[in-house]
Amino acid sequence: MTREEFLEAKFQEYYKTHWANHKAFFENPAIARVEPFKISDNIWYVGDKCVCIHLIDTGDGLILIDSGYLGAVQLLVDTIFRAGFDPKDVKWIIHSHGHYDHFGASNDFKHMYGTKLAISRVDGDSVKECPKRAHMNDKLFPFAKIPEFDRLLEDGEVFELGNTRIRCVLTPGHTIGVMTFFINTTWEGKEYVAATFGGAGLGAVTLPHTFHYELPSNMPEIMLESIDKVFDERVDIQLGNHPGNNDTFGKREKQLLEGGNPFISPSGNAWKSYLTALKKGVEEKIEENRRLEEEINSL
Ligand SMILES: [Zn+2]
Repeated sequence: MTREEFLEAKFQEYYKTHWANHKAFFENPAIARVEPFKISDNIWYVGDKCVCIHLIDTGDGLILIDSGYLGAVQLLVDTIFRAGFDPKDVKWIIHSHGHYDHFGASNDFKHMYGTKLAISRVDGDSVKECPKRAHMNDKLFPFAKIPEFDRLLEDGEVFELGNTRIRCVLTPGHTIGVMTFFINTTWEGKEYVAATFGGAGLGAVTLPHTFHYELPSNMPEIMLESIDKVFDERVDIQLGNHPGNNDTFGKREKQLLEGGNPFISPSGNAWKSYLTALKKGVEEKIEENRRLEEEINSL
């Protein structure tokens, strides 16, 4: 068995389990429906149980951070209405990274409401040149298309609309063009910074993945650099990319039971402890990749 055959077989093994785990959702996305809720004065959670989508009310139109899974567009439209907004006012969708579970409803919004789409230049170019990197599966999504992006964001660029400023920082690792967003916000008369680390699933930094998706094999090391790059940023409200990142629903439950705003962590503890745990996870993947290399060498 060659190195290539070995890695591709490992990838297919992972892939089968991954899709099996998501089967129930793909058969009926409505099971993942979540009642929308407010995180701060201008930020709402409008995602589902699987993927975070945040709506920002800029006072001059709405911005969405990501748009969820392919096939779940009806959930998003319904959730935006239930949050008290009109989806036709979504002027921009800004994407954390170029994976199908974050841009699923984006082309639909573009065609239905004239919404414009933004992503980092690196990921925009990456999925255009190598569409399989978006993780779209032919069998499940035979008609899926890479979104037609209107704006490609550079590292450090500030995206402004209405009263909202979103600082976009390139933090590659999960993909080569992940962007972390820092958003100015307020709550009860105080100013805060909300941020979402733009993509952190560690399956993506394993050797079988980087091999299959034609990515550099040092993606875990690249991710460690990205974590260091934003570790000392002021972040009072950590937003998730997937709900597990910031215990979105645990915090929402606490908010319903005890009131207050459990999403605010003014000392920045939530951000730093999340990134510390992520760093440990990446280091474990480096070790796992090293063991795989040994296995390959002994073939
Ligand atoms: Zn992803």
